[in-house]
Amino acid sequence: MKRSSEEWQKLLSEDVYYVCREKGTEAPFTGALLHNKETGEYCCACCQAALFHSQSKFESGCGWPAFSEPANKQAVRYETDHSHGMHRIEVLCNQCDAHLGHVFQDGPAPTGQRYCINSAAMQFRGEK
Ligand SMILES: [Zn+2]
Repeated sequence: MKRSSEEWQKLLSEDVYYVCREKGTEAPFTGALLHNKETGEYCCACCQAALFHSQSKFESGCGWPAFSEPANKQAVRYETDHSHGMHRIEVLCNQCDAHLGHVFQDGPAPTGQRYCINSAAMQFRGEK
């Protein structure tokens, strides 16, 4: 799903637009999904694609929702991010290119990965 910036701006709230389309970062410890412990799927706030499952969510203490792996290998894609003088791996929605957050190699076993994802970039869909 490809849309222009103008289209996204009309569709998304200001917070979501800032994070997903302008690669912004919400303030730590403010996100609505940070302490969500319900079972379900975390979907893209822009295109509703399933991104992460609650099974892989863990408390990282970093201030943003953290996951050890994506819902499936096709859910996200990666880009090297050299902004802010750092070398990081950016995580994007594979379907609509929304900026989600970054992935770090200091997560728990067995994946060893920590997907540090903005709450604003996701919508939680609980399992009934
Ligand atoms: Zn998306």
